[in-house]
Amino acid sequence: MAIMARFITLADGRTVEVVCLSCALTGGLIKPTGGVIYETDRFHVHQDVAYPIRGLVILASKRHFYGMDELTDEESAEFVSLIKKIRREQRERLGIESVYYFYNEDTTHHFHLWMVPRYDWMTAFGKSVESVRPVLLHARHNMNDEVNMASVIEGIQLLREGLN
Ligand SMILES: [Zn+2]
Repeated sequence: MAIMARFITLADGRTVEVVCLSCALTGGLIKPTGGVIYETDRFHVHQDVAYPIRGLVILASKRHFYGMDELTDEESAEFVSLIKKIRREQRERLGIESVYYFYNEDTTHHFHLWMVPRYDWMTAFGKSVESVRPVLLHARHNMNDEVNMASVIEGIQLLREGLN
């Protein structure tokens, strides 16, 4: 697996070179907007606010690997347990009825699971899984206004309170 260095521009204008964005995030080199939602020795929970959708959560391993079959037994157990905890908070605190889960192994970032809430407005972009990419792009380009960003940040805070 080739590891490529990338340049990332931070919210404060600094540019840093990282080998793996997930390593940079989970290792604390880059602070995600809205802050860390939850953290254990093995996993890191945050939101990618480049896609400003309230309640969208990324669950990343701290260890650098790509394949589901590379999880240790301890990581496997904690991974499922964390998904359940996050999902419960999404439902109870944010009223999220359905979530789409995405994870691909052929990424330059390391192991991370997307938990994307399904909202009614998303049906305008297609049925089921086919709508996800258009939904994410729509959010990135058209939903980064002040009101929605405040709602996204509030969602992060509510999830953080619930998980901690
Ligand atoms: Zn990594």
